[in-house]
Amino acid sequence: MNDLEMPPQLAARPQYQGVPVPYVTVWGKEGLPVFAESDVSRKRRCIENRLCTLCGRQLAEEIAFVGNASQLETRLFPEPGMHEDCARFGLRTCPFLLQHSPMFLCITTDYIRHPIESELVVKISEPVRTERFDG
Ligand SMILES: [Zn+2]
Repeated sequence: MNDLEMPPQLAARPQYQGVPVPYVTVWGKEGLPVFAESDVSRKRRCIENRLCTLCGRQLAEEIAFVGNASQLETRLFPEPGMHEDCARFGLRTCPFLLQHSPMFLCITTDYIRHPIESELVVKISEPVRTERFDG
């Protein structure tokens, strides 16, 4: 599968204008997704239960995080983890991520809630590998 092919678990999500709507995306009053907003309770559920922020399904041992250079350096990420194939698809197709390149794909095996900042920030374990995406 290449990065532009939609992973099956994302193809199973509701679609809006050909784009899968992430699990944590807020749905507006008109029944349309608000891509710029995350549902806080769903984010919390992802962090607590190790669910993928994009497809909402259970994560495996390896967990992917997407962030910029400073997030990579501090290992603090404001969004919950993802499946690697979900993250790769997002890195190739999400307008926000493409606008903010370079972004980094970071694969790790564990994370904790950040003890000082908001509980919705996670601190990830030492990455197993990282990859740079220039959009
Ligand atoms: Zn996923």
